[in-house]
Amino acid sequence: MTSSWLLLKGGHVVDTESGTVRQDQDVLIQDTTMVKIAPDIDLAEEVPRGEAVEQIDAHGKYLSPGMIDMHCHMTYGESNAQEEQDLYTSVELRTLIAAANLRKVLRAGFTTISQPGGSYYIGVGLRDALVSGLIQGPRMHTAGRYLTTSNGLTDWYPDHVGVPEGSIGVLTNTVDEMVREIRHQVKNGVDLIKLADSPYGEYQAFTDDEMARAADLVHQLKRTITIHARGSAEVSAAVRAGMDWIMHGNSMTPEVIEELADSGIPLVPTLLLLANLADYGGSVGVAAHVRDNVKRLLDRTAHTLHDAHDAGVTFMVGTDSGFAVTPYGEWHARELQLLREFAGLSAAEALRAATTVPARALGMEGKLGTMRVGATADVLVLESDPLRDLSVLLKPGGINAVIQGGRPIDSSDQEQEQRWHNLRSRTLSHGTVLRRDFLDGMSPATAVTNGPGVKDPDLTEVFHLVKRFERDAVIDIDEQEKA
Ligand SMILES: [Zn+2]
Repeated sequence: MTSSWLLLKGGHVVDTESGTVRQDQDVLIQDTTMVKIAPDIDLAEEVPRGEAVEQIDAHGKYLSPGMIDMHCHMTYGESNAQEEQDLYTSVELRTLIAAANLRKVLRAGFTTISQPGGSYYIGVGLRDALVSGLIQGPRMHTAGRYLTTSNGLTDWYPDHVGVPEGSIGVLTNTVDEMVREIRHQVKNGVDLIKLADSPYGEYQAFTDDEMARAADLVHQLKRTITIHARGSAEVSAAVRAGMDWIMHGNSMTPEVIEELADSGIPLVPTLLLLANLADYGGSVGVAAHVRDNVKRLLDRTAHTLHDAHDAGVTFMVGTDSGFAVTPYGEWHARELQLLREFAGLSAAEALRAATTVPARALGMEGKLGTMRVGATADVLVLESDPLRDLSVLLKPGGINAVIQGGRPIDSSDQEQEQRWHNLRSRTLSHGTVLRRDFLDGMSPATAVTNGPGVKDPDLTEVFHLVKRFERDAVIDIDEQEKA
């Protein structure tokens, strides 16, 4: 059987581990694997006679490993509201939307993702379809529904509603219920169990014993476990339970930071969602009080994460992509910049947080997230050196090409990509109540035309107006840069 060959000719190879660049190298890829990295490779020596070699001219470009996003929710579908994820959109449609969105993540330079929680077993289906080549996207490592208690994230609704079947979470209030759910999820193919502790770190929602029992069982079943943990108490308990990595850690005491650093357990702060809410939320209808609260949380987070970085905690990139404020394929690489800003990482450390560190956490050390012989050929062809300026990973045209598993990804139809706008929560209006004194000094007719801005109550026009509002809800990065 003949191999498929790809030669990346004359690029500067970025070594994220050492934070250095090797100039003018050829990278020879056989099938899915990098087999030689050297200047001026002699193809006659390396490739059997008669086998074709596709070539990409990389002179003056930088060859950097494909990135890994450890916190990417493919089933969220760019939702505005929790009800949208939990209650609306069928499992069938949600799966199709997720499959279409995967391509956007891949084209943004993220060749691998981990999904820490989502509806049903959609993640498992996507992962397997990706492996078989049915659909295109980053290779996936995935959890099922989050395990929560009545005091944790994802048990949002009153008890008379409960946690619906379509929810991103499943209610497990006792160790027995946790054990049963973990056994079912592992049987159904998850790679990862996600625990959902308190929403904002206000208390510890799982007991020490529950966390330890969950982690022990998951490890016995040879899977990985993580936890949503924003505060000191739950981070400390998660460290003692031996979680594989920890999400968030916004507020930690010096003692807990020390524990985390000593454990070597990586932290995935996941700053993008908060930063997008704080910085751009005003443009997409995020209420002022929400933005203010998020800003306060970010201030606290910046202190904690700088201390954590100084103490030697290792970081991984995770973005919480999947909300309307963190749409797929748009913002992922901003997390590297945010890790510099909020935790004091160097550019090389931020790149490692998106490559070698998560590769190790996923048990793929030396295989993913690295430019070395024997590694899977996930390569980004970049316009400039990311070690000098990370913004090349984010700005339009910065990524010239994405190669995944030795195959260049076609981006030619990117412009035609559609965004699906889910059924929103059944909110009729936003803002305050319509008091009658709104009409004071106006005739009813003026009030109506000045109000909703629709002169002709023709339904088609109303419909188009709604559609336009929905489109506008996605921030255009070009527009942001112009602004
Ligand atoms: Zn998340």
